[in-house]
Amino acid sequence: MLQNDRDKMRGEIVALVEKYGKSRSSLIPVLQEVQKNYSFISEYAMQVIADILGIHPVEVYGVVSFYSFLDDKPRGRFMIRLCRSLSCDFAGKGAVARQLENELGIKFGQCTEDGKFSLEWTNCLGMCDQGPAMMVNDQIFVRLTPGKAHEIIEGCRKVFGPHAMQKMQVLRSNVEESKAKLSFDALNADEILKKALSMKRSEIIDEIVKSGLKGRGGAGFPTGIKWNLTASANSDCKLVVCNADEGEPGTFKDRTLMARYADLLFSAMTVAGYAVGAKKGYLYLRGEYTYIRDQLEKVLDERRRKNLLGAKIAGADKFQFDVETRMGAGAYVCGEETALIESLEGQRGEPRNRPPFPVDTGFQGCPTTVNNVETLLWAACIVAKGAGWFKGHGTEKSPGLKIFSVSGDCEKPGIYEYPLGTKISKLLADVGAKDARAVQIGGASGVCIPAKDFDRKIAFEDVATGGSVMVIGAGRCMNAVAKNFLEFFADESCGQCTPCRIGTVKLLETVQKMEKGECSIERLDEILKLGETMQIASKCGLGQSAPNALISIAANFKDEIMGHCSAN
Ligand code: SF4
Repeated sequence: MLQNDRDKMRGEIVALVEKYGKSRSSLIPVLQEVQKNYSFISEYAMQVIADILGIHPVEVYGVVSFYSFLDDKPRGRFMIRLCRSLSCDFAGKGAVARQLENELGIKFGQCTEDGKFSLEWTNCLGMCDQGPAMMVNDQIFVRLTPGKAHEIIEGCRKVFGPHAMQKMQVLRSNVEESKAKLSFDALNADEILKKALSMKRSEIIDEIVKSGLKGRGGAGFPTGIKWNLTASANSDCKLVVCNADEGEPGTFKDRTLMARYADLLFSAMTVAGYAVGAKKGYLYLRGEYTYIRDQLEKVLDERRRKNLLGAKIAGADKFQFDVETRMGAGAYVCGEETALIESLEGQRGEPRNRPPFPVDTGFQGCPTTVNNVETLLWAACIVAKGAGWFKGHGTEKSPGLKIFSVSGDCEKPGIYEYPLGTKISKLLADVGAKDARAVQIGGASGVCIPAKDFDRKIAFEDVATGGSVMVIGAGRCMNAVAKNFLEFFADESCGQCTPCRIGTVKLLETVQKMEKGECSIERLDEILKLGETMQIASKCGLGQSAPNALISIAANFKDEIMGHCSAN
């Protein structure tokens, strides 16, 4: 690198640090901008960033190497990431993959000699209702066929030139959002905020507690208790974080919810901020959804203009609140709240030991309430309609309504709203899943329910889910299903604890051996026992849930998977 180029890069990094602030938590946004401008983060760039932020270059490298959307090696100006999740698999990603390889003359994991294109697999892009899907830089393309893949590559070739990144904007994402009627349609974001500001903070929290709302991301922690714990913490630097990092394969509801109800979401974050006593909120948006960031920023600007964010919100003298957007960088584990907080702090997204819990010691040591997109929207709904309305739906142990992301072998994939306690059979009938042999509920970390159990209920006390419902139709190979999920976990394990780091690989190897007819019943039984140990001994939900799919598939389809069927 010439001295002039080095000086230019250093100047740019100085400006980026000025823009984001000279603190460790600026590290990832700075790295993302360097990556965007140079297509990778060179050793020199890492040294300069470390120097300016006052940290060791090894720490910067540790962060770059952790996130799949940050690269320390040159890559193509067009980075193509094809989704390999189960729903994209069922929708025909294999043919698209072959077309891309033929078209570009490279294999996955390679870059073209002219440096124009890189081709990679990626885990779930959150487009399961419109697969196969791929990401080209920040843009998302769905409903791919080999022909469409060819057109997109041709489009990239035409716009290639000195301003390729800017011109890339002509190739816009073609994602379509479901128009399904949802309870949120009837709500007025501004009225809800005004109503909340007319209430005492404790009254809002009481209403959320009374509603019985549990977190809609999967773990199901009672939202009112979380808000109460944050509100009670003795601190004046409390925070609200919206977890918009839904990375569970088969989950895409938060994408649609943000696209349709961004105003309501930010109103809900503001209500949460008021209730718990926070002045600041963060929206942690998964890197795969970068294409909707501008739209969200516009909504935030409009809310600031209307004095619904900022100081003295809606005339409330003593209340100020604003929201900052932070981007994820391609790590499923960051959906876990403590890993997300680590990521916000500019660290590798490795889950923390608990306690302390985020409600006591969260982002930068401040009491932090972390709620996902759907949970916040239901909280807004409860403020508008009351706890009684919410509790009037669902079951005693699982009150309220829930949004589901439905994909796979069905006629009408998309998002659906049902009361918790709804039978699987009812949902499958509505989505046109006529010949389902099984359904994977809860994503890769969930369980596989065979047709004989379709009368079970979707609820915390029966089949729990954060919202992912993947229909597995007649003729699908259950071994291939298990393999798809285990490839995902082996790839996404953060590697911090041994049961998960080693266990996910062992489970995957077993399924691969079964596929080749090289696995004995004894080995399968041993590995299932290892899976049970992982469920207890892993540090976080990723390792604890990674064996779920294999264990439930083995329980119901043992003869079939031992028969090492061929791939789908
Ligand atoms: Fe990391 Fe897996 Fe351990 Fe979670 S369970 S901390 S993802 S290695």
